[in-house]
Amino acid sequence: MRLVLATSNKGKVREIKALCEDYEVIPYTELIDEFEIVEDGDTFQANALIKAEAVFAALEDKNVIVIADDSGISVDVLDGVPGIYSARYAGEDANDVDNLKKLMQAIANKGVSSSPAFYTAAIAIVTPNTKRTVHGWMHGTALSSARGEGGFGYDPMFVPLGYEQTLGELSDDVKKKLSHRSQALSLVKRVLQTL
Ligand code: IMP
Repeated sequence: MRLVLATSNKGKVREIKALCEDYEVIPYTELIDEFEIVEDGDTFQANALIKAEAVFAALEDKNVIVIADDSGISVDVLDGVPGIYSARYAGEDANDVDNLKKLMQAIANKGVSSSPAFYTAAIAIVTPNTKRTVHGWMHGTALSSARGEGGFGYDPMFVPLGYEQTLGELSDDVKKKLSHRSQALSLVKRVLQTL
């Protein structure tokens, strides 16, 4: 079965492909031109649905399953910031490095070098007949400094619960086991089995 992803983010596509080995997983940009989707929901769940519905409508293909993920990191010492604004924390045109630096600085500005934090992933599944959403979380510690080159986004500043190394230092296999997206995707697989 073909799963179309409503993202072209290479890090996410790589992770979702690795976790859904039984399916043909393709980013929507291999089928149609990339277009802007305004993510103006108040929650991860709402934004995931907005993305999946927009891509489903644009594809004009009734035999397709579209999966969209909305994710981000919430830092306790910052009262949950950046949360749903994780992708644009350092501005609309910010890249991963800008966002990472801003978040490390914000933690340092609180006079601490670390804080409890967690990642959330909401995944929406849109088919011709149904719309579903599932969630996954990964808890740990956000640091005011970065270590390691692996992963993407905020990974170099995040140490998962039970580990000493950051997600930038840990292998892809460890992240595959722990990540918020993995937890959510295991629920996606169960939902797909029921469709
Ligand atoms: P989205 O593409 O709108 O879901 O934005 C997600 C934001 O959270 C991006 O800035 C990502 O870099 C960040 N993010 C989400 N999941 C992860 C992850 O597994 N590792 C690092 N950063 C992540």
